[in-house]
Amino acid sequence: MLTDALVTHTCGGPFAYQQVQLDDDLRPDECLVLIRASGVCHTDLLFSRESSMPDLFPAVLGHEGTGTVVKVGSQVTRVKPGSNVILCFTSCGECKYCVRKQTPYCDLWFQYNFGIGRLDGTKSSFARHAVVSERGLVPVPEEAVARGWHTLAPLGCGVMTGAGAMLNVLQPAAHSNVVVAGVGAVGMSALMALGMLPEDSRPKRVIAIDVQPARLQLAKRYGATHGVNGKLRPNLMDVLMHITKGEGVDGAIDTTGNIHVLEGLVHSAARKGKVVSVGVGHLEAKVPIAPFESVLAGLSYVGCNQGDAYPQDFLPLLLRASAEGKFPYDDLIRTYPAREMQVAADDMLQGRTLKPCYHTQCRAFVDSGRNTGVRCSRCNRTYCLKHRMQEDHDCKNVRLFLHVEAERSTASAKFPEAKLFFNCDWTVGRMLDEAAKRLQVANLNNMAQTEEQRLRIYHVEGGRLLEFGEKLQTCLQSGNTVVLLRGVGPAQQDG
Ligand SMILES: [Zn+2]
Ligand SMILES: [Zn+2]
Ligand SMILES: [Zn+2]
Ligand SMILES: [Zn+2]
Repeated sequence: MLTDALVTHTCGGPFAYQQVQLDDDLRPDECLVLIRASGVCHTDLLFSRESSMPDLFPAVLGHEGTGTVVKVGSQVTRVKPGSNVILCFTSCGECKYCVRKQTPYCDLWFQYNFGIGRLDGTKSSFARHAVVSERGLVPVPEEAVARGWHTLAPLGCGVMTGAGAMLNVLQPAAHSNVVVAGVGAVGMSALMALGMLPEDSRPKRVIAIDVQPARLQLAKRYGATHGVNGKLRPNLMDVLMHITKGEGVDGAIDTTGNIHVLEGLVHSAARKGKVVSVGVGHLEAKVPIAPFESVLAGLSYVGCNQGDAYPQDFLPLLLRASAEGKFPYDDLIRTYPAREMQVAADDMLQGRTLKPCYHTQCRAFVDSGRNTGVRCSRCNRTYCLKHRMQEDHDCKNVRLFLHVEAERSTASAKFPEAKLFFNCDWTVGRMLDEAAKRLQVANLNNMAQTEEQRLRIYHVEGGRLLEFGEKLQTCLQSGNTVVLLRGVGPAQQDG
């Protein structure tokens, strides 16, 4: 049959929307699915640029999708024509892992899931139709479809991976310290999954690590209590021990695959701590773990594929939690028409992220064409239209109450810290002078010639260095934590 698809003709080439021939002669276990929406995963963009496999192209990529079954093979029993489904990875159904519902570790996982759809569009979601094995489908109820097809597409891959890593693998204990390194789609799903735990059994500290301030701000909205900007604070172990007051991290999920980050997580693990790898960086990279350290600490290092999830059980669980408002993963979905695939790909590769309204209870975003933000002239923060007026947001804070800390000067010294009040009209520079005096930290800023000697203010919740000229009321809120750091600047504004 003829169908439409987004075709990548050459490595690194653009996505072209065109007609292709699809072989719809179904094998007994296969279904023909009409694709209603497709998610864009980093893997697709990596493959579209993969130069080591010239035979790959032309190709139809895409593996996060959702749609309606239109035709089924002779032995299909779980779905029928008309069933609405989410596409996910598939498996053999017969090996010992499949029998135990550990399908991400199926004997034939690679053969089934690393083949790319050829021009005929088989198994690829960047097409109008796809041919998929019954075992790669999860039926979804009508209520879920009613909330929009686009909300279902990313569930079968990135969202499942993040939420599964948290709930199935990390399984954080009550009052523990948890870290999520890298808060893109996968890391954010891991954070949000904490909302599915009963309130009294959630971790007490949830620390997000990323290099983008906007993402760290967003992470706070979805459960992070602290944000660490890895670019500005490269000594992760120091930072994490500092935030956890020396307790260490009980559970960490790494979505970055960055060895430097993993090393920091391993070294800041608490006794009986667990470090979970979800992201893969360079294929030949190694995590340095010392047997001595791990024996004494009872450390676990585990990898996990697809969130260790059995999608046919796990996705309905996520959909229910989302309908109950406990797992708002769909807040973060951006939609593009299929013909604008290139725009979506570019946005993603450049890490353009959503910017939230500053109102803490608001879920609106203010950076899209549909929803322009308004900057309040008094408090200088950006709000959605509904919260733009001074009386509609917390605008009148005159005095700010801050936790101020300084980094210890030697390994044995204590962290100097104090709880201080500042006038919110003050600039960051003035607050820094006052804070340094109160904490008795040497302050050479007025005569410092080089950045090494200069003190800077790091905003923990915002995950960035503040500029000396910024007004406190525009960048801080009462109860926030700031840290005096030397030799880490200059500050960078997020865009
Ligand atoms: Zn994916
Ligand atoms: Zn299997
Ligand atoms: Zn205001
Ligand atoms: Zn708002």
